Amino acid sequence: MANPAPAIDSYYRHATLRIRLILLRGVARRFFLNVFNKRYVRESLAHRHGECRRCGVCCHLVANTCGALRFDKDGQSSCRLYTLYRLPNCCSFPIDARDLADRDLVAPDIPCGYSWPERVTRSARGS
Ligand code: SF4
Ligand code: SF4
Repeated sequence: MANPAPAIDSYYRHATLRIRLILLRGVARRFFLNVFNKRYVRESLAHRHGECRRCGVCCHLVANTCGALRFDKDGQSSCRLYTLYRLPNCCSFPIDARDLADRDLVAPDIPCGYSWPERVTRSARGS
């Protein structure tokens, strides 16, 4: 189902300083994992379920909105650089449930299309 097109900076506009610091820490963490722990990234992605819903939320996690992000009239996001070059942080998001937790800080009502079985199980239990 299509998402309503958000204002370009709506996902992080109300983020507190604490949340912005968490997001920045997440960027650094993903960079570290993508560069120095490719095996962890590969194994975690192998257990990832679902598919991208093109909500565009993960393109707001550097404490701003990426300039390459676009939304069509149906609210579907796209990346202007998709066929050219994207950083590993973009290609592998979300690496694990911790990334989802960070991402949910700015858009808790718009779920990411990806999940991990254990995360689904916890959600199903309501914990
Ligand atoms: S937050 Fe999840 S569903 Fe939304 S664009 Fe990023 S990967 Fe896709
Ligand atoms: S480069 Fe593309 S995928 Fe990466 S944050 Fe920007 S819009 Fe999103």
